[in-house]
Amino acid sequence: MRSIRCTLVFSLLALISSSILAAPAATVKSAMLEPGKHHLSILIKAPNQSTNIPITVVTGLMPGPKLLVLAGIHGAEYSPIRASQQFGIELDPEKIKGSVVIVHIANLPAFRGRSIYTSPADGLNLNRVFPGNASGSLSQRIAFFLTNDIYPLMDAVLDVHSGDGNEDLEPAWTGYYAKAGSAEVVEQSKALAFAFGFKHVVPFEWEFSQREEAIWAGSAAVAMGIPAIDVECGGMGVPEAEAIDAIVMGFRRTLGHLGMTNETFRAPNTQKIIYDRKSVKSPNDGSWISLKKAGDLVKSGELLGVLTDWHGRTLFEARSPKDGLLLLRLSAPPVHKGETLFIVASTQSVD
Ligand SMILES: [Zn+2]
Repeated sequence: MRSIRCTLVFSLLALISSSILAAPAATVKSAMLEPGKHHLSILIKAPNQSTNIPITVVTGLMPGPKLLVLAGIHGAEYSPIRASQQFGIELDPEKIKGSVVIVHIANLPAFRGRSIYTSPADGLNLNRVFPGNASGSLSQRIAFFLTNDIYPLMDAVLDVHSGDGNEDLEPAWTGYYAKAGSAEVVEQSKALAFAFGFKHVVPFEWEFSQREEAIWAGSAAVAMGIPAIDVECGGMGVPEAEAIDAIVMGFRRTLGHLGMTNETFRAPNTQKIIYDRKSVKSPNDGSWISLKKAGDLVKSGELLGVLTDWHGRTLFEARSPKDGLLLLRLSAPPVHKGETLFIVASTQSVD
């Protein structure tokens, strides 16, 4: 009896210590080797602060591609977060090849703090601190965990966003780095961007020569030679059913595209490139009155909104810099100097 109890205690201690000592990567990595569905919670620690990253790993019975779905880099972008949760629940390991690693809420401090752009833990924008820093603040350590422990295991990355809690975004689009990374990575990223199935695709013009300049989650993947796209769908702090469904459908299409499922989808009839995105920034702190909706067609010089001081007196009339599609606008009044009030872009059909 005594020896059985000792053995039990010893086994329990061994179990506890192994789970404490297990490196986070080993946890995700081992889940990717074991067919089935694994719900993980990865602890990230910084001095006097810590957080968890909720991850679902779905590993098929057959080997195949490894896909990372990243949601909640921005904690108030709810449609991507909900879509990732719904997809994680729906995905059947018996029907896929390879592994899908779904990070549901990369930035849990921002989600729990109902915070736009930045994390209340350290005031940093997680999507500006990649590739991260192992000895930095909490956001920097989250980024480091992703680039150091997860990205190297992956064949493709989907970084899923929406307009932030104060941003109206329409139409939904996917984006890829058209001028960064090897020709092969650019080609594969482009194919992912179109395969996701949204009507609009943005080829990012940004170029980089050093990995350290890749401060966005998607660009950090491309800098490491991993095909990646950004997805933008939904916004204004609302988990919209239509946006959630569209994102989940994009995930399914991506798995089909990568050969991870047998599902096949027809390409949308018309896909368009969004180009020449022009943003108008706020010249002052103030209170913003937006006069249009994202998705509206606007004319050059047209009044799109007014910035006032705290008393309501006009500081700045914001006019469209060109004819085009109002792709993004601030929907909520608080504005800081230098922030983007709206973006107007051109579109062109793809043959
Ligand atoms: Zn975002």
